[in-house]
Amino acid sequence: MIGRILEAVVILLVVRAIWKVLGGLFVASTGASRTSTRGEPLAVKLIQDPVCGTYVSPSSSIADGREHFCSEKCRAEYRSQSRTAADTRKSGA
Ligand SMILES: [Zn+2]
Repeated sequence: MIGRILEAVVILLVVRAIWKVLGGLFVASTGASRTSTRGEPLAVKLIQDPVCGTYVSPSSSIADGREHFCSEKCRAEYRSQSRTAADTRKSGA
């Protein structure tokens, strides 16, 4: 009887240990990929959207030359603005 209980406890402990190791591996793999590849998460360079002023990361933004935008809408707006500016400059000169 006591043998049975001990057996059950040992199995429980082993299962828990395996669960813990698996959980640790899972956390390590997801956490490590986020921190070690990036190194310093706070050092990620943010670029300001010149249209709406939102700060965007270069990887998730819409790039247009040296400018980065939060959305297609801002990029289109920026393009129309720069085109207007260029036209005014051309006609003014
Ligand atoms: Zn924007």
